[in-house]
Amino acid sequence: MTVISLQPLYPWQQVIYSSITQPFSQGRGHHALLFKTEAGLGSEVLIRHFAHWLLCQNKNGNEPCHQCKSCLLAQSGNHPDFHQLEPIENRDIGVDQVRDVLATLQRFAQQEGNVVVYIRQAERLTEASCNALLKTLEEPHEGVYFLLETDLQAPMMATIQSRCQTWVLHAPEMPIALQWLQMHCPQFSETDIETALRLCHGRPLICKTFLENDRLSARKTFLQTFWRFYKNRDPFLLLSQFEKEQVQMQLEWLQSFFSDALKAKMGMTTGWVNHDLDKGIWLFSDALSAQQLLKGYDILCETEKNINEINAVNIELMLANGLTRLVLEVF
Ligand SMILES: [Zn+2]
Repeated sequence: MTVISLQPLYPWQQVIYSSITQPFSQGRGHHALLFKTEAGLGSEVLIRHFAHWLLCQNKNGNEPCHQCKSCLLAQSGNHPDFHQLEPIENRDIGVDQVRDVLATLQRFAQQEGNVVVYIRQAERLTEASCNALLKTLEEPHEGVYFLLETDLQAPMMATIQSRCQTWVLHAPEMPIALQWLQMHCPQFSETDIETALRLCHGRPLICKTFLENDRLSARKTFLQTFWRFYKNRDPFLLLSQFEKEQVQMQLEWLQSFFSDALKAKMGMTTGWVNHDLDKGIWLFSDALSAQQLLKGYDILCETEKNINEINAVNIELMLANGLTRLVLEVF
């Protein structure tokens, strides 16, 4: 059973949704669309909404009617012409999965309307899966639409990509995200939300979880400990504050502290991530040279990169190494 979400679009999706649907309304929609996106933007909601609209048999502008037989089937999570492909139990999307779906397409639409195949994490199609899919993408059946979703950074087989119309779904403009977060996290001040949003790279859904899990104050405590580590030159003070699942984010907090201090050093007072900690940043910036700040920033980036790439067996050791280097080479 494949459920097509009935969740409304997020405000930052309205404009791009109109652009995506427009050519279809004019009868010249592309049969294969590739959506490149990042986590935390709710792109799945947009794609499912679009799929629902494609299946609707009595479209109301660029919205589904919610009343026709197709819409009712979609709402019940039981639409026979909506197919979803994705990794199962974290295994790549195998060629058998692809062939199964393609075989059902041979029997044509069961509802006299369009057919939609939604492929999630399309970067995880194996080479054989891509090849199986390619033939269908090259000779499209009328009324059959492929919606592929992939991570913005992930490489995608060029032959597949060249047969798709690509849409890149970016993080929204700050004011739109801010307004939405203020509505959904009213207990936080505007300054806190702004800071959290910058720390979450402008991704509203990740930011919402971040705020709700009280990560903003966790970060404050963490950076206060960093300050003690800096003063005492004792790596173990900070080492004990790293949390297993949060290491990458915590390293990013430190990087942003260094880069803000560097900006302060250069007289730049805008574009800081940690505006709420400006007193500490000015102090830090006054105490260190630009060269030291840059060196510290590089060490932190290198540490993060090593942890990500070297399979993270010895995270503690790599962190200890990075922090010791800060003491010996920077402070
Ligand atoms: Zn409908």
